[in-house]
Amino acid sequence: MHTNLSANIYQTGDSSVFKLDTSLIEEPKAQQVLLKQTAIGVNYIDTYFRSGLYPIDLPATLGDEAVGVIEQVGEGVTEFSVGQRVAYSAAKGAYTQYRVIDINELVPIPDNIDDKSVATSLLRGMTVEYLFCRLHELKPSDVILIHAAAGGVGQIACQWARAVGATVIGTVSSAEKARIAKRNGCDFVINYTEQNFVKAVDEITNGQKVDVVYDGVGKDTFTQSLDCLRVRGLMVSFGNASGKPDPFDVLELSKKGSLYLTRPTLYHYTRNRQEILDSAARYLAMLEKGHINIQVGESFALSDVAKAHDYLVQRNRIGSPVLIP
Ligand code: NDP
Repeated sequence: MHTNLSANIYQTGDSSVFKLDTSLIEEPKAQQVLLKQTAIGVNYIDTYFRSGLYPIDLPATLGDEAVGVIEQVGEGVTEFSVGQRVAYSAAKGAYTQYRVIDINELVPIPDNIDDKSVATSLLRGMTVEYLFCRLHELKPSDVILIHAAAGGVGQIACQWARAVGATVIGTVSSAEKARIAKRNGCDFVINYTEQNFVKAVDEITNGQKVDVVYDGVGKDTFTQSLDCLRVRGLMVSFGNASGKPDPFDVLELSKKGSLYLTRPTLYHYTRNRQEILDSAARYLAMLEKGHINIQVGESFALSDVAKAHDYLVQRNRIGSPVLIP
């Protein structure tokens, strides 16, 4: 029986709250497999649970996504076999070397895409999938604003929108990030640390404004994002990189043009096996066809999970971090 290392939290707070624990590996039960994990994704949502912004029962093993190889299958498992490479993207408990997991969470991954690329992008890619294919079906005629266009989600979103043929305006905080956003298909890039982005959007669109805003920055951009929308435009507030948006008066939606507002989360777009399989397959097909390339960030040992969290929230870094168990 192997020993398993996992990174856990017993209280919420800054990245120093992680503790490393060793335990014996469990046996998979019916419809479960034992995974030897090879690469673990680190996402903002992990930092929200760690800090206490999102409520969580303690103690907890954080992390929603990873790639691994199946070491053992439980009773009744026919869909997957020992030795197969698989991934998951919305199943809390990823910060561990070995993991027993229900097969309902797993998706097969193509041989020609490496573990780090999948582990740093499956959750973000499936997020872009639901944002562009299900929450609102992105059309070539759409003009959209994507905040943090050179970030993890932002880079995938720009490339996906380019493949659709939509017009993309992206915000970034530096010249280097502006180059990345452009390379990924952003038609117009605004450095929102130097320019007022509402004014810039107005100029770029000749006062027409945009059909949809995708705002994962939150507190610092939420209110102004609403001012970038055309009448009956759609505001998608999907993250809190700069903090949670301030409380909001719904009458503003009427005043600013009968706007639509949604605050979605991937969990509600992956409610069952079919939604998980379809979303992952659509995203992985975009990778396989070469429409989307992934820029992997720095690799960290599982024992350095605190450093990986600090890296993720550093604004100047490029590429999403990955934990190697
Ligand atoms: P990113 O790699 O995009 O990093 C966040 C980016 O936000 C930074 O690169 C930075 O870009 C920008 N930013 C603006 N203000 C700040 C600040 N004060 N501190 C740090 N960053 C800031 O992260 P991810 O791709 O992992 O996630 C992007 C967003 O998407 C997050 O808010 C995350 O929670 C959300 N998300 C939501 C999901 C959902 O289903 N709702 C699922 C997955 C992610 P710049 O320097 O250019 O401003």
